[in-house]
Amino acid sequence: EAPLNVAQLRQEFPILSREINGRPLVYLDNAATCQKPEVVLRAQDHFLRHSNANIHRGLHTLSQEATDAFEHARRQLQQLINAPSEREIIFTRGTTEAINLVAQSWGRSQLQAGDEILVSMMEHHANIVPWQMLAEEKGLTLKVIPVDEQGVLDMAAYQALLSDRTRLVAVAHVSNALGTVNPVHEITRLAKTVDAVVLIDGAQGVPHVAVDVQQIGADFYALSGHKIYGPTGMGVLYGREALLEAMPPWQGGGEMIDQVSFEKTTYAGLPHKFEAGTPAIAEGVAMGRAAQWLMETGVERIGAWEHQLTRYATDQLKSTLPDIRIIGEAPGKAGVISFVLPHAHAQDIGLLIDQLGVAIRTGHHCAMPVLHHFGVNATARASFAAYNTKEEVDFFVESLVKVREMLA
Ligand code: PMP
Repeated sequence: EAPLNVAQLRQEFPILSREINGRPLVYLDNAATCQKPEVVLRAQDHFLRHSNANIHRGLHTLSQEATDAFEHARRQLQQLINAPSEREIIFTRGTTEAINLVAQSWGRSQLQAGDEILVSMMEHHANIVPWQMLAEEKGLTLKVIPVDEQGVLDMAAYQALLSDRTRLVAVAHVSNALGTVNPVHEITRLAKTVDAVVLIDGAQGVPHVAVDVQQIGADFYALSGHKIYGPTGMGVLYGREALLEAMPPWQGGGEMIDQVSFEKTTYAGLPHKFEAGTPAIAEGVAMGRAAQWLMETGVERIGAWEHQLTRYATDQLKSTLPDIRIIGEAPGKAGVISFVLPHAHAQDIGLLIDQLGVAIRTGHHCAMPVLHHFGVNATARASFAAYNTKEEVDFFVESLVKVREMLA
C-alpha cells in the first residue's frame, strides 16, 4: 500500500490554512479532538440544507430521507469496526455516554455486592468514574491493573488480579495520556477464562488502529465521532447482541418504546431500545461520512504515518532538549507525546507556544491517576493525526526551545 500523501490530504482540511497569532496553525492537540475534512463538513451541511427532519417517526419524504441517512451512518460505523450486525451499533453522545450506558444498564442489573471490576491505571476518567459511582451504589470492588515505568500494562499483575469474582474488565485500547496501545485481544482472551465481560474504551483506538471487534472478542467497544475526524456530540457503543438484548433500557422516552400505556410500556428492539429522544441527527450523518473517510484513507496508513512522526518527534525532542522527560515510552505507542521540562510549568509552555501558533494540550488529560503514578500533576502533550508533517514537528521543537528560553 502506498504511504499517505500528506500534502494532498492537508488540502482536505480547511482549518489547516488558518493563522494563529499571525503564524500558520500547527495543530497538535488531536487526542483531544481532531479536525474535520471537507467531505465531513459537507455531509453535515448538505443534510441540514437538504434533508433535515426528525427521524424514524415521520412518513413524509424528508423524514424518510433523514432516517435513511442516519441509518446509513449506522452501517458505516458497523463497517468501520466490523461489527456483525447494525443492531449492535448504539448511537450515543460519545465514549463517555457509551461507558455510562454500560455501567447503568448492564452494571446495575447484573452486578452485586462483592463483585469485582478491573480497570487499568492508565484509564481516562470516563472509564473510571462511572465504575466508581456504580461500585459505591452496589458495594462492588474496583481493582487497578498497574503499569510499568514505560507505561506498559503489567500483564502478569493483570492475570493475578483475575478471579471468579471478576465480572468486568474495562480497559482503554489506546491511552490518551501515554499513547500506549494495549493488547486488547489478549486482555479479552484472559478475561474470558474467568467469564468476565470486557469493555474496551476505543476513543483513541479507532483513529489509529484498524479495529475489528470480532477479532478483539470484547463484549463492548466505545468510541467518539470527534476523534475520528467527525463532529462532536456523537459516538458509538458497540455491544454483543445477546448482551444488549438482555440489558434493560437506560434512558426512557420517545424512540425507545414499542407500546406505551399507563399500565405497561414495552420497549423497542435493538438498537433503538437504547436511543431515547431525538439524537444529533446531522452529526450522526457526518460521523458516518467520517468513518467512510477513515476507511478510504486507510487507518493502517494513518497509523503508520503517526508512528513515523512520533519516533521522529521523540528523537528530535530528546536531542534538542536533553533534560526533557517523556512520560510513557511503550514500544509501538500511538501518536502521543506527553512530556515535562524541568523548571517549566506545563501551563506556561502551552500558553507561550500558542503565541507561536502551536496548539498542544497541557494538564492532567483526564487521567489523573496515571500522571500521579509517574509523580507529576500535569504534562504538556503533543498528539498527531493523519495531516501532521515533519515540518510541523520541526517547528514545534524549535518553538519549544524558544519557550524554554523565555521561561529560563
Ligand atoms: N477515553 C479516552 C481514552 C479518551 O481519550 C477520551 C477523550 N479524551 C474519552 C474516553 C472521552 O471521550 P468523550 O469526551 O468524547 O466522551
